[in-house]
Amino acid sequence: MPTNAEYDAVIVGAGFAGLYMLHKLRQAGRSAIVLEAGSGVGGTWFWNRYPGCRCDVESMQYSYSFSDELQQEWGWSERFAAQPEILRYAEHVADRFDLRPFIRLDTRVTAARFDEQGRRWTVETERGDRFDAPFCIMATGCLSAGRTAALPGLATFEGETYHTADWPAGGVELAGKRIGIVGTGSSGIQAIPELARQADQLFVFQRTPNYSVPARNAPLTPDYETSWKERYPELREEARHSNSGTLYDYGPHSALAVSADERENVYRARWQVGGPNFLRAFNDLSVDQHANDTAADFVRARIGELVHDPAIAAKLMPHGYPIGTKRICVDNGYFETFNRPNVTLIDLREEALETVVPEGIRTCDRTIPLDVIVFATGFDAMTGALTRMTVTGRNGMRLADKWVAGPRTYLGLMTAGFPNLFLITGPGSPSVLSNVLVSIEQHVEWIAECIEFLGDTEIEASEPAEAEWVEHVNAAANQTLYPRAASWYMGANIPGKPRVFMPYISGVGAYRKRCAAVAASGYEGFVLSAPSGLSARRA
Ligand code: FAD
Ligand code: NAP
Repeated sequence: MPTNAEYDAVIVGAGFAGLYMLHKLRQAGRSAIVLEAGSGVGGTWFWNRYPGCRCDVESMQYSYSFSDELQQEWGWSERFAAQPEILRYAEHVADRFDLRPFIRLDTRVTAARFDEQGRRWTVETERGDRFDAPFCIMATGCLSAGRTAALPGLATFEGETYHTADWPAGGVELAGKRIGIVGTGSSGIQAIPELARQADQLFVFQRTPNYSVPARNAPLTPDYETSWKERYPELREEARHSNSGTLYDYGPHSALAVSADERENVYRARWQVGGPNFLRAFNDLSVDQHANDTAADFVRARIGELVHDPAIAAKLMPHGYPIGTKRICVDNGYFETFNRPNVTLIDLREEALETVVPEGIRTCDRTIPLDVIVFATGFDAMTGALTRMTVTGRNGMRLADKWVAGPRTYLGLMTAGFPNLFLITGPGSPSVLSNVLVSIEQHVEWIAECIEFLGDTEIEASEPAEAEWVEHVNAAANQTLYPRAASWYMGANIPGKPRVFMPYISGVGAYRKRCAAVAASGYEGFVLSAPSGLSARRA
């Protein structure tokens, strides 16, 4: 019997965004339901169970800040927590704040439609259930729509295939198997050392080499944990107003303002400490090609040292795009893995992949027999989860049609023509360029406050404000080196996707200020309409 139910808000997705949104609305006395495709909460950390998966923002910072009790009572075991621990944390949050009764698992949303007469959203699931509410909140994640490379002949393969972002909950028996892995982005680079330890033979199919820095992961010391917990309120506040939502050690100088020796020492010190802090060594690495080259050269030199065979090292060295303009990878022994006798690097630029065959993968030179193919081929990032649903706004307008030339939002929070539809970490917001938990908290709090302000008034992004914001987001990106890489930030990993830099790059601190100012002005740039249909234009 299909469900037909009404709420104040329907939230799609039970990752960190959906969980906090639900908690916040419930605290405000609102009725809300979360619809989640997975059979558990945790989003990213529910799906990405591949061996080696972990965060690369330090655990003490990659966690919620909204509850001091929560942040004081929870203890992380490692500097960079692994997926099982982050998943346990998400589950703990769901239990601790009594959220589970309001979450429907195994429930994939297929459509959301705005009824202009009834002034409500109707959200439909693949089972035919319908949920109505004045507000619909998409907490569907920027990196949740996995993408398997459409390799020719894939359907003929007689072995097993897996995607890193849809890894079986019980794990996969890999011991003694011949494994091929396609993709050397962050997921591949994390998985490869672990797969190499388990496999009989591992074949790494690399199309584009990536820049990666060592994590130097380690157990969290009680002293380090205490140093954070004692100062959490002040440190969290600093992070909220920082550039990336993470407290890094920002080098104050240009890479070109110091001597070559000094620069080398700075890079060496950061390489030794580990983590993405490396990229904050100088203040112009993301904007000046010459400055950036110095960091890229340094990383290439380290690859040359870590990989014993110079020919393999050369294939692993990235060239042709600035370091950091594809998301920097953070690894645990990635380059060293290529010194193992059971690991073979296939450079697809020299040895083209022709087709998958029943027994493995055929390149232009040979057939490589495989028992398992692992796809670490990424996501239809930022827009994929939204456009895979049929989201229909005013006048029958579909979101996928509206965004055909690239996503258009005002502040990454709403899109014109779709009243009362909020996007958490939507395109046009800092989202994936930040510690995403900081960005999630900021959006959830902004949306909750907005809903309280509205009462039964309707809100919609105005076209002019949206046009201005889209232009501003593009202009900000164009002042950096980021558009020089064919990255998923640019939609370049999806055939046919428009080349538009999707996240907002000017920093979470500046962005937060702008969002707060908009709210304080009575939602400038949004159109608010009273239930009678009389509208108060604030564009
Ligand atoms: P998600 O966690 O992606 O949750 C979205 C949920 O929505 C999913 O559970 C999905 O099933 C559900 N959903 C989507 N569409 C539908 C639908 N149609 N119907 C029903 N449910 C739907 N960020 C960092 O800041 N630091 C890191 O170190 C970091 N590491 C990462 C490592 C990996 C492997 C990946 C993939 C991402 C990483 N990220 C990291 C980004 C990470 O996605 C965010 O930090 C954060 O977890 C996103 O939370 P979310 O709730 O917004 O989205
Ligand atoms: P990704 O960065 O998009 O990498 C996908 C990889 O697959 C690339 O190497 C790509 O090569 C390759 N590929 C795609 N299609 C291919 C094809 N047809 N043939 C051969 N190779 C192909 O995806 P991801 O590694 O899953 O990471 C996505 C994002 O998730 C990261 O950037 C990060 O934000 C997040 N993440 C974070 C962590 C972490 O450490 N915290 C870990 C995992 C993921 P090309 O480059 O040539 O396209």
